[in-house]
Amino acid sequence: MGGNSVAHNVHVIDHPLVQHKLTLLRKKETSTTSFRRLLSEIGSLMAYEVTRDVSMHEILIETPMETMHSRLIDGKKLVFVPILRAGTGLLDGFLSVVPGARVGHVGLYRDPKTLVAVEYYFKMPGGMKERDAIVLDPMLATGNSAVAAVERLKEAKPRSIRFVCLVSCPEGIATFQAAHPDVPVYTAAIDRQLNDHGYIVPGLGDAGDRIFGTK
Ligand code: URA
Repeated sequence: MGGNSVAHNVHVIDHPLVQHKLTLLRKKETSTTSFRRLLSEIGSLMAYEVTRDVSMHEILIETPMETMHSRLIDGKKLVFVPILRAGTGLLDGFLSVVPGARVGHVGLYRDPKTLVAVEYYFKMPGGMKERDAIVLDPMLATGNSAVAAVERLKEAKPRSIRFVCLVSCPEGIATFQAAHPDVPVYTAAIDRQLNDHGYIVPGLGDAGDRIFGTK
C-alpha cells in the first residue's frame, strides 16, 4: 500500500510534492483560489498512492507491432465518497486520475455545541457490493464525522472502504480506529493535537471556509 505506515492501518503520504503543496495550503495568506487549486492537486497525488493496490484485469490489445495482454484498473468499481461539504475539495483531484469512478455523497454537519455528527444527506450509486469505496474529508479532527460517515457507508456493504484525509491528529485517528479498525486511513500529516473547539492545531483552519471563501 502507498505511504509510510506509522501505526497499524495509518498511511502517511509524505511524498515531497504532497508536503510542498500542503505547506502552501496551510499558510493563512493563501487565497481561496490557490487553496482550491492546491487541494485539487494534492487530491490527485494522494489518489495515486491510495489506489496503488486496486484490482486490475487483463485485456488483449493490439499495438502497432503485435497483440499483447495488458492491464486496466476497474475504474467504474471505485466510488469516491466526499463528506459534504469540505470533502468535495478533494474530489476533483481524485476524478482527474480516475475519471470513470462513481461518486457518492454523505452530508453531515457538526453540532457546534456537542461536536457530534448529524446526517442530512446520503446518496450512493447502485451495486455497492462490488465497489471499493474511498471516503474523502480534508480534516480528521474529532473523528466524529468520519466515524458516522463510515458507519452509514458500511450499511451499503461496499467491497472495501478506505478513508483519505489531508490533515489528521492523534485524537481523530484514535477515535476513528476504535470505531473502524478495519478501515485504512491515508493522511498527508498527523498534526500535534485537537484544540478545545475541535480544530486541529497547527492545522490549516476551517477547510470548508477556506475552499468556499465563506469566512
Ligand atoms: N474541520 C476543519 O475544517 N478544520 C479543523 O481544524 C477541524 C475540523
